[in-house]
Amino acid sequence: MLSVIIPAYNEEGNILELNKKLTNTLKDLDYELIYIDDGSNDSTLEKINLIYNKDTDHIKYISFSRNFGKEAAIYAGLEKSNGDYICIIDSDLQQNPKYIISMLDYLKKNNSTDQIAMVMKDRKKESLFNRFFKKIFYKLINKLSDINLVDGASDFRMFRKNIKDAVLNLSEKNRFSKGIFSWIGFNTEYMYYTVEKRYSGKTKFNKKEQFKYAIEGITNYSIKPINLSIIIGSIISFLALLYIIITIFQVLINGKDVPGYASLLVVTLFLGGLQLIFIGIIGNYIGKTYLETKQRPIYIEKETKGFDNEIL
Ligand code: UDP
Ligand code: MG
Repeated sequence: MLSVIIPAYNEEGNILELNKKLTNTLKDLDYELIYIDDGSNDSTLEKINLIYNKDTDHIKYISFSRNFGKEAAIYAGLEKSNGDYICIIDSDLQQNPKYIISMLDYLKKNNSTDQIAMVMKDRKKESLFNRFFKKIFYKLINKLSDINLVDGASDFRMFRKNIKDAVLNLSEKNRFSKGIFSWIGFNTEYMYYTVEKRYSGKTKFNKKEQFKYAIEGITNYSIKPINLSIIIGSIISFLALLYIIITIFQVLINGKDVPGYASLLVVTLFLGGLQLIFIGIIGNYIGKTYLETKQRPIYIEKETKGFDNEIL
């Protein structure tokens, strides 16, 4: 069986069209569609209920008590899925369902491949700023952490049950799916796809969100930024030591008066700034530890339908 996981947050204009396309594409297969309403405040849930009532054989859904984020929605979908093959797809029709068939065919033919990740082709539509920012992010994260992320690889992917079990085993609360799917290992192949225009509605990830996502990605998989403070601190201390020696010599041997409150101010401000940055970095990791130790659930469900143990 094939399980398709579909996270949806305020996608009322997309659900019906997406479901039509998915149902058409998958009609000859044994499949289930798992919709996750991620605490939408529009009529997404009503739309999902509508399609559920028409096709209870294939459709299942979970509705969250509030917006927990796409990562939480993916986790919930994985937990509830029963398939031997599992696929994650966005609900805005940017990712054409036809690729599900290509991924499935590939996995069925190639036993040694455990997962296929779809990589965006044709990025020209993205702004120069975006492409530049993403390039730096991928360079940084691949250098600083044990994981290897491919620029343009999305959450649009299909994998076998062994990957699902491994991902569910990583029950951390602060989830960065792209990293998790790489960290667990296994054999991943990449396939290209052309991103389509959003069918309806707006993207949920603005610049600020993307920046936050990038920082999270790096700090979730690497503690090297903390070590950076040791290295930079050592270099500065060494330079300061040299400067002290030079000053002492100038005063003692040349009898020169050492000028300068401007230089004093610059150095103090520079070091003060540096110290604050590193306190911030360390604080970020402590904050993460604090949030993880609370052991809160990744999501809270309000309503589920179509699964064996239903909450009514
Ligand atoms: N999404 C979600 N929860 C969120 C934000 C987004 O489930 O808090 C879903 C959204 O409904 C969509 C997918 O994640 O199906 C990708 O979101 P979007 O299209 O806004 O991102 P983009 O394609 O612009 O990266
Ligand atoms: Mg989208």
